Amino acid sequence: MAKSDERCSFCGRERRETQILIAGLNAHICDHCIQQAKVIMDEEVTSDKTKSVPDFKLLKPTEIKSYIDQYVIGQEEAKRIVSVAVYNHYKRIFYAKKAQDDDVEIEKANIVIVGETGTGKTLLARTIAKMLNVPFCIADATALTEAGYVGEDVESILARLLQVADYNVAAAERGIVFIDEIDKIARKSDNPSITRDVSGEGVQQALLKMLEGAIVNVPPQGGRKHPEQKMIQINTQNILFITGGAFDGIEKKIANRLQTNVIGFKSAKKEFIDKENILQYISPVDLKSYGLIPELVGRLPIVTFMHTLDRETLKRILLEPKNSLTKQYIKLLEMDNIKLSFDKNALDYIVDKSIEFKLGARGLRSILEAIMTDEMFELPSRGDAKTLRVTLAFVEKSFRKSSMARLRVA
Ligand code: ADP
Repeated sequence: MAKSDERCSFCGRERRETQILIAGLNAHICDHCIQQAKVIMDEEVTSDKTKSVPDFKLLKPTEIKSYIDQYVIGQEEAKRIVSVAVYNHYKRIFYAKKAQDDDVEIEKANIVIVGETGTGKTLLARTIAKMLNVPFCIADATALTEAGYVGEDVESILARLLQVADYNVAAAERGIVFIDEIDKIARKSDNPSITRDVSGEGVQQALLKMLEGAIVNVPPQGGRKHPEQKMIQINTQNILFITGGAFDGIEKKIANRLQTNVIGFKSAKKEFIDKENILQYISPVDLKSYGLIPELVGRLPIVTFMHTLDRETLKRILLEPKNSLTKQYIKLLEMDNIKLSFDKNALDYIVDKSIEFKLGARGLRSILEAIMTDEMFELPSRGDAKTLRVTLAFVEKSFRKSSMARLRVA
């Protein structure tokens, strides 16, 4: 065929009507048709529910915990409980696949982690997702409202998971969702009020469906549902929901249940109760008395807690995690051929400041940033420096100079 006669074998466009015309053995395809084919392909792939899921190796609970230990410091109870829960959850998925005709159905067991902000709840959930190589997303319960009200529908959580999974529905259906601040959607009072509680009980009701493993219609781009929108169906049966919240004041409810009170502890059980660490006695009943509806509590059968981080743990957080802050800085300066080291008392100072400013583990990063900024700015272009030793005198001076020093919490 003469060059001028060449045309796209799909749409019939002539070469001059195209930007590019690719020749095959006995046919041609133009840029328009390539683009069209790409759109069709993307749509097909998105709706292909059987698309393969990356394989993950099912580790034993002790192995799961050892993995988490590399990233999350302390929090032994939570790590043990969550390791078992994750193991059972994923065993359930494998089991269900292998023995569909068996009549023993293992129910899904979602998790609640009660603990102050910054104690590692999100980190724990994120670490598990990383270990399993499954899609993971974080949602904030405070942003959610009952359908029809200003705010996000609960389905938006699954839309996010789907996005993280690159619209691979099968992968999303085995993902992990961390819902933070679940305590903020607690019922405000025990009496159902005449005014509607659109961001409290209504949201709890809406979440129920997802948590119990229903098939949910999800608007793929997130946002509000509207009638013309194309929905993607997601089966939530194998999505693990880990929820977290500070549950301020729940200690009192636990103490009441233990028939004692936080101040007095004049109970017959006195010798068995560690009043310094009352959260360790948390049980689903306490979540109910805090204002979570019984149905929701029923869908969150695994309850655990996080300790408040003490000085020793904060110091370990600076040093021990696989990607600890100190290791990150050492790596950064290594790239400039500078050997960085931290004196022990310099690290103590950083921990003390974080406690003094009530910043917890999150504060360690901001303080270290504040201290290191000047050096990080100047060192790479000085050229002569081969080492940097972070001493107590250095951190004291840098910290005083930094704007953080003015942030003191009363
Ligand atoms: P939460 O979800 O409880 O509010 P995060 O998990 O977001 O807290 O913790 C904030 C940051 O503090 C984490 O990214 C991590 O750097 C650090 N951190 C908190 N707790 C721990 C811990 N137990 N072990 C290691 N790092 C921690």
